[in-house]
Amino acid sequence: MDDDIPYLLLTPGPLTTSRSVRQAMMRDYCTWDDDYNSIVSDIRRRLVALACEDEDGGDYTSVLMQGSGTFSVEATLGSVIPPDGKLLLVDNGAYGQRIGQIAARLKIDAIIIDQPETQPADLNRVEQALSTDPTITHVAMVHCETTTGLLNPAAEVGRLAKQFGKKYILDAMSSFGGVPMTMGELGADYLVSSANKCIQGVPGFGFVIAHRRALEATEGCARSLSLDLFDQWRAMETGGGKWRFTSPTHTVRAFAQALVELEEEGGVAARAERYAENQRLLVEGMAEIGFRTLIDPQHQSHIITSFLFPDDSTFQFRPFYDAMKKRRFVIYPGKVSVADTFRIGNIGHVFPDDIRQLLVAIGEAIEELGIQMGRVS
Ligand SMILES: *Cc1c(COP(=O)(O)O)cnc(C)c1O
Repeated sequence: MDDDIPYLLLTPGPLTTSRSVRQAMMRDYCTWDDDYNSIVSDIRRRLVALACEDEDGGDYTSVLMQGSGTFSVEATLGSVIPPDGKLLLVDNGAYGQRIGQIAARLKIDAIIIDQPETQPADLNRVEQALSTDPTITHVAMVHCETTTGLLNPAAEVGRLAKQFGKKYILDAMSSFGGVPMTMGELGADYLVSSANKCIQGVPGFGFVIAHRRALEATEGCARSLSLDLFDQWRAMETGGGKWRFTSPTHTVRAFAQALVELEEEGGVAARAERYAENQRLLVEGMAEIGFRTLIDPQHQSHIITSFLFPDDSTFQFRPFYDAMKKRRFVIYPGKVSVADTFRIGNIGHVFPDDIRQLLVAIGEAIEELGIQMGRVS
């Protein structure tokens, strides 16, 4: 852990970034100057390269959008689904639910497959919906439900979407850059993520990797001016990296540095291995202390893990959180309705040694609070 940070964020996101990513922000840039726009163009190229096999890179493009990740999800839904379109949505967590809220607010007709938060997308229900309603035009789903840490079968749903000739929007916010994936194998037409997740940048913008021809066909369809994905893309494409409105220059510069550091680490595969090692150590160590996980290991991502409260009814999140923060670790409250949980993220500038120290701190906090831990069977 860097000495210059008060605590490690195990909260995706924002998450813990490297000192060099934070230092990259110590300069002001002019938004219409080439120095800045060439950084933007380089980011757009690198994002497409991360999401594509070399041979199909030309079919895809990318666009950056101001705001947090939700703004990019909303920009995508509101810009690519035509007025007479219809969305099929898998909802098995808070972020899936948020896509449903966006659709409702934008008056987009939607069929929602409402599933328990602990179960991955039910492919039979997706296929059933697609085969009974030919008016569906788009399918949307969250890849890693950060609500729980559950990983949805993104490529399988993509195959169904393609089989039925639908466009596919994937919220890969918390997985892109930390789980190997390509647009081709996902069958995704639009993949949405943001600066402050697995690329390990700071918050301030999101991005969409899009099938070029699909995006080109959406001109004039947007329900919002500032969140018009096509217009934003055209401005960047024709203006050599120019944003339509004031862009988060410092965040963008930090993101460029974060992309270089991702490459230096060995790319997405190497980063995924580090996160997976973090997660493996965490779950093993937590089991030794007596904590059980919410999600079946088969569907558990290496991004974030939900732990069930211990049986001891005196356990409360807030004192535990404070005891952990005092020990320089910031953890995440739970976000599910089915059980009392808290969450620990593995992503960011966080390494196996940090997890080992975290486990020691958790043991100390449990002892300080006098929590009686049961046994994990
Ligand atoms: C982080 C995240 C978002 C976006 O959240 P913001 O708070 O708007 O950045 C959306 N979907 C998922 C799955 C996420 O993890």
